[in-house]
Amino acid sequence: MIKVTNLIKSFLTTEVETLALNGVSMEIKEHEFVAIMGPSGCGKSTLLNILGLLDNPTSGEYYLDGEEVGHLKESARTNLRKGNIGFVFQSFNLIDELNVFENVELPLIYLKIGAKERKKRVNEILQKMNISHRAKHFPQQLSGGQQQRVAIARAVVANPKIILADEPTGNLDSTNGKEVMELLSQLHEEGTTILMVTHSLHDAQYADRIINLFDGKVVSGVIG
Ligand code: ATP
Ligand code: MG
Repeated sequence: MIKVTNLIKSFLTTEVETLALNGVSMEIKEHEFVAIMGPSGCGKSTLLNILGLLDNPTSGEYYLDGEEVGHLKESARTNLRKGNIGFVFQSFNLIDELNVFENVELPLIYLKIGAKERKKRVNEILQKMNISHRAKHFPQQLSGGQQQRVAIARAVVANPKIILADEPTGNLDSTNGKEVMELLSQLHEEGTTILMVTHSLHDAQYADRIINLFDGKVVSGVIG
């Protein structure tokens, strides 16, 4: 499903070059749940952003379902992302001005799905994420765990094939963290491919395998 070969990503800021990814090659099979671990600054978020089509690598290839997608223009990346990839972030990234229902509805609006169908699908997913009772609330009125459940609802409402999660439990206490991990686990069991960056060995145990990054390179876990 995902295959990358020799990914290099360098950032150039005021004469300083950072080699965030220094030749990453790996493969993720359909329906796998993979955890990406490694010390701060080793390139985990950079890798996830490239896999999630939020950014392009400086060089190297990225094959998504056999198609090379590593060097597309931003508009093509955005189109491909819609409905294919769902993102979950450590800081939830909900839109403060929209209520829970409206936040979760957004990906369906981007996909030009009609209002009636949107309502049905949003209500279904809010129920599944156990957050229906908060549909009219705004993000600031929710606990961290509730906000992350809304963010997961938004990530999965358009039935993406892949979920990319960057430290999804990083801002949560252990009870809420466990609930989020169990939701991700459930989505995995239902067939979604999941790639999750985490600092927690406990969370990583929900995954089928762990890929360790160090200094922009894969140091273990290449083969599943
Ligand atoms: P953490 O665990 O702290 O989240 P990480 O493994 O996710 O770390 P990245 O965010 O991928 O690390 O960053 C990898 C390296 O690339 C770091 O040295 C970082 O400073 C650098 N970097 C990331 N994004 C940029 C950017 N937009 N401009 C310049 N440097 C960047
Ligand atoms: Mg990071």
